[in-house]
Amino acid sequence: MEFLKKSTGHAIVLEEPPSFETSRPGAVGTDLPTLDVPRIEPKSVFKKVRNRKARLPELSEPEVMRHFTRMSTWNYAIDLGIYPLGSCTMKYNPRFNEEIARSGELSEAHPYDPIEWSQGHLRVMWELTEDLKGVTGMPGISLQPAAGAHGELTGLMLVSAYHKAKGRHRKTILTADTAHGTNPASAALAGFQIVQIATGEDGVIHPDALAAVLNDDVAALMTTNPNTLGIFEKNIQTVANMLHEKDALLYIDGANLNAVLGLSRPGDFGADVIQFNLHKTFSTPHGGGGPGSGPIAVSERLLPFLPVPRLEKHGEKIVLVEDAPQSIGRVKAFFGNYGMFIRAWCYIRALGGEGLRAVSENAILNANYMRSQLKDVLYMPINAPTLHEVVFNDRNQRDLNLDTTKMAKRLIDYGMHPMTVHFPLCVKNAIMIEPTETESRSEMDRFVSALKEIIETPGVEQAPTRVFRERVDETKAARELRLTYKFKD
Ligand SMILES: *Cc1c(COP(=O)(O)O)cnc(C)c1O
Repeated sequence: MEFLKKSTGHAIVLEEPPSFETSRPGAVGTDLPTLDVPRIEPKSVFKKVRNRKARLPELSEPEVMRHFTRMSTWNYAIDLGIYPLGSCTMKYNPRFNEEIARSGELSEAHPYDPIEWSQGHLRVMWELTEDLKGVTGMPGISLQPAAGAHGELTGLMLVSAYHKAKGRHRKTILTADTAHGTNPASAALAGFQIVQIATGEDGVIHPDALAAVLNDDVAALMTTNPNTLGIFEKNIQTVANMLHEKDALLYIDGANLNAVLGLSRPGDFGADVIQFNLHKTFSTPHGGGGPGSGPIAVSERLLPFLPVPRLEKHGEKIVLVEDAPQSIGRVKAFFGNYGMFIRAWCYIRALGGEGLRAVSENAILNANYMRSQLKDVLYMPINAPTLHEVVFNDRNQRDLNLDTTKMAKRLIDYGMHPMTVHFPLCVKNAIMIEPTETESRSEMDRFVSALKEIIETPGVEQAPTRVFRERVDETKAARELRLTYKFKD
C-alpha cells in the first residue's frame, strides 16, 4: 500500500505567526455605518479595570479565516482518518447530531427561562434519562456531571453519603490494576484511601484477590468494565455479591460502554453506580472539541442521595424536584452540558435499540480484526478474548532498536494518529488500539500496513520527519509554561 505521494518537503503547508504579529491597526472584520451620534468613551468603568488599551489583534475577516484555517492544517482530526486511541473511543460523530444541536430552538434556550417555556428541553433530558436507564438497567440517573472524571467524583460522593447515612465513615476504595487512572485519582479527590487489587494472568479480578483485602472499612470497589485491557470482568457478579455482603458498593467506570451496549447491563450484575461518557459512547465531540458530559446511573441503594434538581414527569409535565433531604446537592450549574444531551439523544433516537447493539458488535468486530491482523507482529501480553480494544507491547521489536514510542511517532509520518501508548500501566510499553465501530476495513488495513512497514523498515529515530511540526520536546511546554504573549514593545 502506498501512503504518501509526496512528503511535506514538496507539498505546501503554511507557517502562521501569532495574530498579534500580523495585526494591522485599523483592520476590522465588520463594516458598521458611520456614527451619527456623539461618541462616548466608556472611561469611567474601564479605567478602573485597566489603564491601557487591550492589545487585541486587528485583522480583516479573510485574515482571521485564513489564520485559523492554516493552523487547522497542522492538526489531525477524526475527520481526516483513523484515530485509534485506546480507551478514548475516538469515533466519527455524525454531522446530523450537530445540525440538530445547533438548530435555533434548541441552541438558544436559556436556563432561566420559566419552566413552562422549557418543557421541550426538559423533555429531551427526561427522555435521555429514560434511555440511559434502559442501557444500564439501573433505576436512577443524574445528567449533571460535566465529564467522565466528574461523574466518578459524583458517584463517590454518593458512596460517601450512603455510608454516612448508615452512621459510619468508611475510608477505603479498592481498585483493580486494570482500572483507568482517573479511578484512583477520583477516589483520592473524594477523600478515600486506595488499595489496589492485582488482576490475574487472564487480566481480570479474581474473587480470592478481593477476599484478601475486603473488610469493614471498604466503602466500594471501583473498576473499569470492560477493563483497560479491553477484557470483560467475567467474575463481576461474584465480586458484586461479595461486596454487598459487606454492605460495600460496586462502582463501574462506564467510559467503555461502547463495548457492551445491548449486550450486557451493569444493573444486572450488581453495579451500584456507573458513569457514562456521552462524549465517547454517545458520539458527542471530545478532545479539545468542546465540553464533555458524564451522567451517572445508580442502583436502588443510592437513589436518595442523587443530586438535585431531579427531573420528574407528572402527567405530561416535566417538573424539577429540589426537595430531597438526603441529596448531595448540586454538582454543576443549571442542568449540566445540555448541548451534549441533545447530541446523545439524537444519536440514540437515530440508532434505536438494535442500532446501539450493532454499535457494540461492530466495535468488538473491528478491535478483533486489528488483533488478528497484528498478533503475528506485536506481542500480546495477555492473550484473552477482548472486546472493543486490544493491548499489545513492543517485546517482539526489542532487537530492532524499535520501541512503542518510536512506532507511535513514526505513524504520524504515515498521516495517521497513533494508538494510545504506555497505558494501561499494568502492561510495560503498552500499545493500546481501539479502532471503534466507525472505521471501515480498508481504513483499518491502511493502519495495519503502515505499522507493519514501520516494523519492517526501522531506523527513523527522529520521527515524525515528514510532517509540518517535527519531533517536539514533549515536556517543555509543561515545564516552561508561558500563558501570555510577549509583546516586543
Ligand atoms: C476517558 C475515560 C475516563 C475519563 O473521562 P473524562 O471525560 O476524560 O473525564 C475515565 N475512565 C475511562 C475508562 C476512560 O476511558
